[in-house]
Amino acid sequence: MIPILDLTVQYRALKPEIDAVVADVFAHGHFINGPHVHAFEAEIAAYLNVPYAVALNSGTDALHLALRALDIGPGDEVITTPFTFAATTEAIGIVGATPVFADIDPRTFAIDPQQIERLIGPRTKAVLPVHLYGTPAAMEEIMTIAQRHGVAVIEDCAQSIGAKVGVEATGTIGDIGCFSFFPSKNLGAYGDGGMLVTRSERIADRVRALRAHGGAVKYHHDELGVNSRLDEVQAAILRVKLPHLDDWNARRRAIAQRYTEQLQHVPGLDTPSCALASLPVYHQYTVRVDQRDALRRLLSDVGIQTMVYYPTPLHLQPVHAHLGLGPGTFPHAERAAAEVLSLPIYPELDVLDQERVIAAIAMARQATVGV
Ligand SMILES: *Cc1c(COP(=O)(O)O)cnc(C)c1O
Repeated sequence: MIPILDLTVQYRALKPEIDAVVADVFAHGHFINGPHVHAFEAEIAAYLNVPYAVALNSGTDALHLALRALDIGPGDEVITTPFTFAATTEAIGIVGATPVFADIDPRTFAIDPQQIERLIGPRTKAVLPVHLYGTPAAMEEIMTIAQRHGVAVIEDCAQSIGAKVGVEATGTIGDIGCFSFFPSKNLGAYGDGGMLVTRSERIADRVRALRAHGGAVKYHHDELGVNSRLDEVQAAILRVKLPHLDDWNARRRAIAQRYTEQLQHVPGLDTPSCALASLPVYHQYTVRVDQRDALRRLLSDVGIQTMVYYPTPLHLQPVHAHLGLGPGTFPHAERAAAEVLSLPIYPELDVLDQERVIAAIAMARQATVGV
């Protein structure tokens, strides 16, 4: 069986170091806002080349507190993509704001900047692009439009840590970048975790207060906050992993390159693409195929696990039914949801398994398309 992701290989490689830091935390006994959390914030800030990084409980909280820090709430609108994980719009809903969807660019699967401008109105407070699958959204165009209209940009970088547009890391281009350390992400904890980064000291201070019950000083509370801290054990583990991230992302790119070289001529299948100036990190390697579900079954029959991220665009989810956006509203997102298939990819996936995936797809395609 070739899984889409296997986290155990990485743990085996790092076991002595990880076990040692976890034991260190248990021994020093400083479990909340301890030395590893502070060091990890500084290391992420340095890695991304951004002045402020605030460690949080999850990527969802990073998005939610980003909106809070910008005073976005009831009556406000946030323009985002319908083709993403539910947490993106969940964060908008948590603060009482309304998501306004724009269709995607079918080539990058990210929000289409051309759709954004006509949706900007007096209630628009922010644009929230998602670097889906680790492929950067069209940040240059998005920033130009946002600046023209004076709206903020919050980047959902849950899948894109290490990805760049030119020399700039995703998450440092807009006003706020939101990262997730969910175990399956490119930099994954052994539990939940997240990080908010920004160039604004004011925003960083506000989020530091919000994550600790709404007050910068203990037992003093200026506003309603939450309890959203990255715990010391996860920070210690993430510090062991961060120095490996660039190498892991490079290996993901090498796997993606092999997949693309070998799959680009398979009939009825489109390999992923991204803008020339951008450096993707292939959180997922996602192709488009017709008769997707048939291919998925055939691959499963030969022991190859694939996934569909995501089968239903958010405007068609029950949680957003009150927006009244029926099928056909966002044709590119809907088509993507019907056609995408993510193949096994993780840094330790060996060449033999990559070749097996490629061969199985070529065989299966012959069976389904009949060529
Ligand atoms: C994983 C993910 C999130 C949420 O991150 P959590 O840490 O699981 O809360 C948000 N947006 C996208 C696109 C994601 O993939």
